Amino acid sequence: MTESNYLQGSCLCGGVRYRAALPVAHASHCYCTMCQKQHGAAAGSYANVASAGFVVEAGAELITEYASSDHGRRGFCRACGSTLFWRSTESPDRIAITLGTLEPEYAGPVEREWFVENKPAWLPLK
Ligand SMILES: [Zn+2]
Ligand SMILES: [Zn+2]
Repeated sequence: MTESNYLQGSCLCGGVRYRAALPVAHASHCYCTMCQKQHGAAAGSYANVASAGFVVEAGAELITEYASSDHGRRGFCRACGSTLFWRSTESPDRIAITLGTLEPEYAGPVEREWFVENKPAWLPLK
């Protein structure tokens, strides 16, 4: 596997490192209240990739999953709190990894926005 074939990411404390095989099906900003609460931000930002290509290279024991709904699972580092991924038990073949944990910075386009009606007024437009 060469560098161009996958994305790499890590959490704030560096304990968790992962990689995710390309391609990205789509990238998105999600403004739902659950993403806002979990990220403490205007949105959760994700790249949707195949779960089969998602590999935790270090710190798997640090990853805790919070069940935010009957099917939604939100993975985060229990040492530093970084949000790492969102996945659904209803579509186990996909996983949405957080754009903010990618290194280097995500270079692809963000094509989708979810729950735009919930976009906060304090979010700058540009
Ligand atoms: Zn961490
Ligand atoms: Zn959301």
